[in-house]
Amino acid sequence: MNATERPLSRRSFLSGMLATTVLPLWAQSIPSNPDVVVIGAGSAGLSAARTLIAAGKSVVVVEAANRIGGRAYTENNTFGVPFDQGCSWIMGGSNLPYVKMAQEWHFDLLNHTDAGEALFIDGERASGAQKGAYYKAYSRMESATSAAGRKGLDVAAASVIPAEMEFAGTAQSWIGPMDFAVDFKNLSTMDYYQYGAIHTNYMVRQGFGAVVKRMGAGLPVQLNTPVSRIDWGGSGVSVETAAGTIRAKACIVTVSTGVLNAELIKFSPVLPEQKLSAINNLPMGLLSKIALQFDGEKFGLHRNQWLTYRVSNEMPAEACFFLTWPFDFNLMIGFIGGQFGWQLTAKGTEVAIDFALGEVEKMLGSDVRKHFVRGFLTQWSHNPWTQGAYAAVRPGHYGARAELAKPLGDRLFFAGEAIATPYYQLCAGAYTSGEKVAHEVIKSIG
Ligand SMILES: Cc1cc2nc3c(=O)[nH]c(=O)nc-3n(C[C@H](O)[C@H](O)[C@H](O)COP(=O)(O)OP(=O)(O)OC[C@H]3O[C@@H](n4cnc5c(N)ncnc54)[C@H](O)[C@@H]3O)c2cc1C
Repeated sequence: MNATERPLSRRSFLSGMLATTVLPLWAQSIPSNPDVVVIGAGSAGLSAARTLIAAGKSVVVVEAANRIGGRAYTENNTFGVPFDQGCSWIMGGSNLPYVKMAQEWHFDLLNHTDAGEALFIDGERASGAQKGAYYKAYSRMESATSAAGRKGLDVAAASVIPAEMEFAGTAQSWIGPMDFAVDFKNLSTMDYYQYGAIHTNYMVRQGFGAVVKRMGAGLPVQLNTPVSRIDWGGSGVSVETAAGTIRAKACIVTVSTGVLNAELIKFSPVLPEQKLSAINNLPMGLLSKIALQFDGEKFGLHRNQWLTYRVSNEMPAEACFFLTWPFDFNLMIGFIGGQFGWQLTAKGTEVAIDFALGEVEKMLGSDVRKHFVRGFLTQWSHNPWTQGAYAAVRPGHYGARAELAKPLGDRLFFAGEAIATPYYQLCAGAYTSGEKVAHEVIKSIG
């Protein structure tokens, strides 16, 4: 084991119709009775629309929010620099379309695979030996979870890891809440094991959300148009929206399982039992960002690095780990997730910011508050159109992703991060899932 680097998680370690396409004018106008109606203008919905249009199909994308991108969202208003409220790392397998697009459109990419990490213990920088113990815990947690999945066990990761181990809480907080958006007691060993190897891991100076927005520019999207009902009983589909009913040959649903579980969209006839059970077994996990802006003081920390500290082994631990000074911006981006993430975000922005600042203060001293400018807490937990960050399979129900992915009849299709095997939970996975489903639809409707 190399004692100078944390063995990064599977995500950050194991590691057609694209950028140049100009949409034909007919594809940019909104047809009233299209071939296909796509619900949701996130990564999956936009890529599905592009693929369908490339095949000459008429499409309407209906989007509840007032912007495209969904959980890919870069904004400059809060801090005056690009801030990704949702996804920020272009991650996944090799040859990701988003990397090609970002390069083609001259976005600045930073390979973040070998990011360094500062580890603090009780307000002091960890010694080499302590870091070594932390990496060991991290590796043991990962290998125990993977080994269970490899054996075909689909149980909670919490039930297969070593009982007592130094840094167990810190390692679990990274792998569980920060990566998979759930604690080890809610992390399926099979889901963990089946997750795809990560070969790509880039940050984007202008924001990943900005790349997704550019990808969707000019597509026929109807904003501010929540869908409330899908009738898929006859031939074709009939989709009720806030702006009227759209009839089409087929429909692709890309909304989160949070939205499906909350039954914000009614189906008629009701979805079959297996589909409902799959949705129920894919509840949303939570990853939230608490971004802290400082006045330019860097506290001796490097840019684009991780800042981690030892937390209690009692789970859920109160962990908020940070990315320091991305692209040299005066920001520390804190991450909270899992059960503690839900609890802290429920207390509101002020409490969450104060908590994050307090954790930084414990590491770097009381000067921290003097240099603090402003903070921001993302609202994915309360956003009605997401209801969390991304879907995590309940232990024992690994098959839920495949079940949700099955189309109903030749007209009701599903896409999105929840079913983007093996790159579920990821924006690039959602893109591929939209593209794949669009090809199935093209085959189905002819
Ligand atoms: C804090 C955070 C950090 C993340 N970090 C990363 C990362 O670094 N890298 C990575 O790859 N992934 C990351 N992700 C995950 C990634 O953002 C998602 O997997 C991906 O963006 C999901 O795309 P999607 O198209 O499946 O869903 P969405 O983006 O949610 O798109 C679905 C769309 O449907 C719309 N909608 C919902 N209900 C309705 C309705 N009734 N009618 C009409 N429209 C509706 C929504 O408004 C939304 O626009 C992160 C997510 C979060 C929240």
